Amino acid sequence: MPKTYSGSCHCGLIKFEVSADIDHLRECNCSICIRRGALNFRVPEENLTVLTPLENAVLYQWGSETAEDYFCPKCGILPFRKSSQLTKAEIEAGKAPFTGWAVNARCLSGLNISEIPIVKIDGASL
Ligand SMILES: [Zn+2]
Repeated sequence: MPKTYSGSCHCGLIKFEVSADIDHLRECNCSICIRRGALNFRVPEENLTVLTPLENAVLYQWGSETAEDYFCPKCGILPFRKSSQLTKAEIEAGKAPFTGWAVNARCLSGLNISEIPIVKIDGASL
């Protein structure tokens, strides 16, 4: 059963609610995730409600500029992101696109991260 969690950046400039059944967390080794140390989980787009104006966040894009990383300009925390769109090769290989949000589990209140299994994602080689 999905649960509704409240989340925010550190200073509260970005607040959100997310409905999710968090059965695992993703630890990714791509260039941005490894620097950030985030543990993410994925939800469909409609499961995340940003309660503060999205413009409160700064959008960071790099490389193919198809991923969307939203971070707080005041406290620097990144609460959620959208993954890169699939490359032509990935689409041809039959990989299913994911259009939802990746949410930083460390930004949720009332979630005990140590009880949730961690799945390692090899984002560095994607
Ligand atoms: Zn903040």
